[in-house]
Amino acid sequence: MRVVVTGGAGFIGSAVIRHLVLEKGYEVLNIDKLTYAGTLTSLRPVEAKLSYRFLKIDICDAAAISSAISTFRPDRVMHLAAESHVDRSILGARQFIETNILGSFTVLECSRAYWEALAPEDQSRFRFLHVSTDEVYGSLGLEGSFSETTPYDPSSPYSASKAASDHLAKAWTRTYGMPVIVSNCSNNYGPFHFPEKLIPLTILNALEGKPLPVYGNGTNIRDWLYVEDHARALNLIAEQGRVGETYNVGGRNERRNIDVVKRICAILDDLRPIGHPREELIQFVMDRPGHDARYAIDATKLETELGWRAQESFDTGIEKTVRWYLDNEWWWAPLRKGYDGSRLGLIKTGTG
Ligand code: NAD
Repeated sequence: MRVVVTGGAGFIGSAVIRHLVLEKGYEVLNIDKLTYAGTLTSLRPVEAKLSYRFLKIDICDAAAISSAISTFRPDRVMHLAAESHVDRSILGARQFIETNILGSFTVLECSRAYWEALAPEDQSRFRFLHVSTDEVYGSLGLEGSFSETTPYDPSSPYSASKAASDHLAKAWTRTYGMPVIVSNCSNNYGPFHFPEKLIPLTILNALEGKPLPVYGNGTNIRDWLYVEDHARALNLIAEQGRVGETYNVGGRNERRNIDVVKRICAILDDLRPIGHPREELIQFVMDRPGHDARYAIDATKLETELGWRAQESFDTGIEKTVRWYLDNEWWWAPLRKGYDGSRLGLIKTGTG
């Protein structure tokens, strides 16, 4: 099995590549531009393998993407490259429009040209997996969850750009017959997570005794998915999912942000006590503009059709994650030097 993974130097992409190379024994080509979020050290466990290779390419560069795909001759393309941080999209949406919409279009078109030239049996085996987010569905009230048929209603420039790319991906099946599948997942956490997102930022700030910023009143709810559970789900969807379908991926682990932060404090107080409870470091800060109140994924389709189950509960996954950060300063210390975790994405007219 030969798989192109775009965005393979990112948080989820690198987990997917480690899974495909180390556990499945697949040949993988990682295509990544290495933006601030791309970290090749996340691939240290596979970098010496002959079955793994890397090309530094911008997904908007059609000539380079075409040449990479036609030379590597994949059975699958798993498209994860994206600008992924909501706060950065509020600060400047252009890069999100370029990478997430035009870049996805470029990867789809280059894959289509390659797919159309394949022999019929290879054409029918080929799969294109477009990896997206539950944020395309907008925000939930206190009840209910997102299913695959929930109407799209994105709130941020990030989620709007992902929604656009999901529509393109679906259209490439309906119009051209290309075998595309879309997955929409909830918030991921786990090892190798760039320290700008809530969980790794909280772990590192708490470790260093720095303030722990919590947006608004901390009651926003996210449905947490351990990244390695997600990587397994993506491979399963690419392997056995039905063409033209969407699969939601979620860990059934809803938590309020404030409770996530408190849990991390408690684990660190246990493992690395500092003489006072770290909860004292929590600071409520101005809310994110357009902050969605609640996300929750109904993953019944993935569970019943493909037999997937999340292996980690939030409690086991968060403990593993905190321990991983304690043991892997070599990975995060250089990133922390480049970005100290300061606040991004506030606008003067924010609605709070
Ligand atoms: P990430 O920001 O950690 O990694 C993105 C990767 O894409 C980086 O390695 C970056 O260098 C690369 N990239 C960005 N622009 C590129 C370009 N123009 N050309 C080539 N490479 C480029 O993101 P992630 O958290 O690993 O997310 C991966 C995918 O999963 C994204 O499509 C994201 O929308 C989706 N997703 C993420 C989450 C989450 O919780 N992290 C949740 C739902 C969906």
